[in-house]
Amino acid sequence: MQNTQVVIIGAGVTGMCIARELSRRELDVLVVERASDVCEGTSKANSGIAHSGYDAKPGTLKAKFNLEGSALMPKLAEELDFPYRNNGSLVLCFDEADRDKLNDLLERGNQNGVKGLKILSGDEARATEPSLSGEVVAALFAPTGAVVDPFLLTAAMADNAAVNGVEFSFDTEVINISHAKDDPETSEDGSNAGAAGGYVIEAKVRPSLRNGLSAEETVKMHADVVINAAGVYADVFHNMVSDTRIHITPRKGEYCLLDKKVGGYVSATLFQLPTAKGKGVLVTPTVHGNLMVGPTAMDVEDHDLTDTTADGLSTVVAVGAKSVKALPSKGNIITSFAGLRAHEDGGDFIIGEASGAPGFIDAAGIESPGLTAAPAIGIYVAGLVDDILKSAMKSDFKAERKGIPQISSADIEERRKLIEQNPLYAKVICRCELVTEGEIVDAIKSPVGAVTLDGIKRRVRAGMGRCQAGFCTPKQVNILARELGVDISEITKKGGGSDLLMGYPKDGEPFKELPVKGGAAHE
Ligand SMILES: Cc1cc2nc3c(=O)[nH]c(=O)nc-3n(C[C@H](O)[C@H](O)[C@H](O)COP(=O)(O)OP(=O)(O)OC[C@H]3O[C@@H](n4cnc5c(N)ncnc54)[C@H](O)[C@@H]3O)c2cc1C
Repeated sequence: MQNTQVVIIGAGVTGMCIARELSRRELDVLVVERASDVCEGTSKANSGIAHSGYDAKPGTLKAKFNLEGSALMPKLAEELDFPYRNNGSLVLCFDEADRDKLNDLLERGNQNGVKGLKILSGDEARATEPSLSGEVVAALFAPTGAVVDPFLLTAAMADNAAVNGVEFSFDTEVINISHAKDDPETSEDGSNAGAAGGYVIEAKVRPSLRNGLSAEETVKMHADVVINAAGVYADVFHNMVSDTRIHITPRKGEYCLLDKKVGGYVSATLFQLPTAKGKGVLVTPTVHGNLMVGPTAMDVEDHDLTDTTADGLSTVVAVGAKSVKALPSKGNIITSFAGLRAHEDGGDFIIGEASGAPGFIDAAGIESPGLTAAPAIGIYVAGLVDDILKSAMKSDFKAERKGIPQISSADIEERRKLIEQNPLYAKVICRCELVTEGEIVDAIKSPVGAVTLDGIKRRVRAGMGRCQAGFCTPKQVNILARELGVDISEITKKGGGSDLLMGYPKDGEPFKELPVKGGAAHE
């Protein structure tokens, strides 16, 4: 049985911010993730807003960690080189009768300590945001509101944690956790002597390009401390070991993503007054210059169902359209997606040692503003681990990480220098987003590297544009196969079960390379 000091379940933004903080310490840390990559759960499908913090009820963990996370974000973005833009936000009020609700938000924000909040008249708001609807009578302006790339934030944390010694086991699904004292292997026969406390974690490991297994295996590991950052499944693990019960309802939010050509239609993030189920439908530029509208808020049974529906998407377009003069949705929606909020019945984050389970630390119920809060949650949880394991800080911790160069945003001189270093930066693979082979190879070779098409897409945006990978998929498959040293039939969209190529050519010969049309003219 593998023995590790700390096991983190879940490689979403919460787990990765905790991992990075723990990697400052002299500790063995293992991240166990059932998907094939980081950020495959809720952290990949949200609004990408670094909320300023006026929405959370004063005194809650949501309010505390939102404020702290929002304050940490600009420096972190520099240190770890992920995209962050402080574009400010507006909460729109369309009816004089609702002005009290806007005042309440202002009051709440002031109590939470949000800086610079002020209420603007409709005309003042329109002066800063010309596309704003003529129906807006007032708006709450939050200058500290910002947009980030949720994937690159998570990947940056993961890369930095890996460089500082954190280990990852992907394609590994935790199926059971028990107190080590109750496990026959640790408590009676002494095969794991010294493990009187802590937990035994049982997991299924799926064959994948990362682990080279040929068949599924079940493994058992022992950890002194377990961190439960399993998103919509965090209640399952809490309930396996604690003497209290928690309950998470997945709350689905659907979005439409619009083409970059309309990305400048608004500059601030435009919210409407919050509803009982959340912050309502927003219209926002993304940090990469697209326009985004959404999300819906619907409680669902299925913890994995992130489909989008015609009803959901037409609702976000109709509701979002109210915020602006003429939402440029027609012909400009390039894709849609949905994410699941981990809504716990109590309505707040649950962060801390679970009752009756010493050394089992929950980071559960991390719904919005969880993306914003994650860096602060990471620091706090690492402090809880210090209380238990009393580990020393590393003297050689590397705090900085350099992201992958982005040819599309580099000027001519920067491009010239990059191409001199590596001619693959001159070879365009994704035409819509201007992503080169050099960037794709960097994504595969990064510390927690991409092994799937989705992994490349989220790290360097190949396939994120108007054609949604229609043209560049075969080229990316060839590059992945070449760099990973595998047959192209082994390349998947997002790991287990998402095969792209099936069957073999004549005589069971492996595929060599996918034929790619267009070639040089686009490169
Ligand atoms: C529609 C929507 C909009 C949002 N907008 C914002 C926003 O604008 N700003 C903001 O601050 N927050 C926002 N949020 C909230 C934010 O996205 C979440 O709080 C955050 O992503 C949660 O991260 P996490 O790491 O806790 O969970 P996840 O990202 O879901 O990660 C949990 C991980 O655990 C893994 N896992 C689960 N079960 C197992 C198992 N058995 N074994 C191994 N691994 C397992 C999963 O595969 C997953 O990778 C939004 C959320 C939604 C749904």
